[in-house]
Amino acid sequence: MKTIGLIGGMSWESSAEYYRIINRDVQRRLGGVHSARSLMLSVDFGDIEKLQHAGDWDALTAEMVAAAQSLERGGADFIVLCTNTMHRMAGAMEAGVAIPLLHIVDPTAEALKGAGVQKVGLLGTAFTMEQDFYKGRLAGHGFEVLIPEAEDRAAVHRIIYEELVCGEIREPSRAAYRAVIARLVSAGAEAIILGCTEIMLLVRAEDSAVPLFDTTTLHAMAAVDRALA
Ligand code: GLU
Repeated sequence: MKTIGLIGGMSWESSAEYYRIINRDVQRRLGGVHSARSLMLSVDFGDIEKLQHAGDWDALTAEMVAAAQSLERGGADFIVLCTNTMHRMAGAMEAGVAIPLLHIVDPTAEALKGAGVQKVGLLGTAFTMEQDFYKGRLAGHGFEVLIPEAEDRAAVHRIIYEELVCGEIREPSRAAYRAVIARLVSAGAEAIILGCTEIMLLVRAEDSAVPLFDTTTLHAMAAVDRALA
């Protein structure tokens, strides 16, 4: 079994889900008391969040490259960055280490292709919804990507940073996400990407008229596929 190098803490609420999903899946597949070989380097999200909102992507890039290098030195066979937003730095991280990075968009795209989806709605942080690093990679896989209108994007972003990364799950926020999803479906979305690793803590299949593609679960299970390959 390969050793998975997880970069976590963004936020730890979702990193805990990665850890749980990966170990459950290894146990399910290998049986007995098997569990995953992994290293996790978990950062202080307080520092990360400030740099994100200050737009200091150079400092964030340096921190993510250093994290990947630490995991490589520690014996990781590949890197799993447990956040969508920080994949903005994926290219620099790949250049900074000799081991591969399992990009979060790729297993998500494979699952969407398997379901025959062409037009997909994207929920995530404002960085993920608005910047090109994420939508561009999805477009490279052949998808048409729809994002919410400005007011809806602001609400989706606010709920992530003020509630979900603190583990707060609130009914009015679930209702707000349900309404945003319904508007994306009216605009033609055939499926919705939960493109922030905490959204799965809030939103369930019954909150959407179309299938949900949860990046946390898809990414974590792809990590297990690679570890056991
Ligand atoms: N976990 C989130 C994501 O998947 C947001 C936190 C972050 O900015 O890293 O994008």
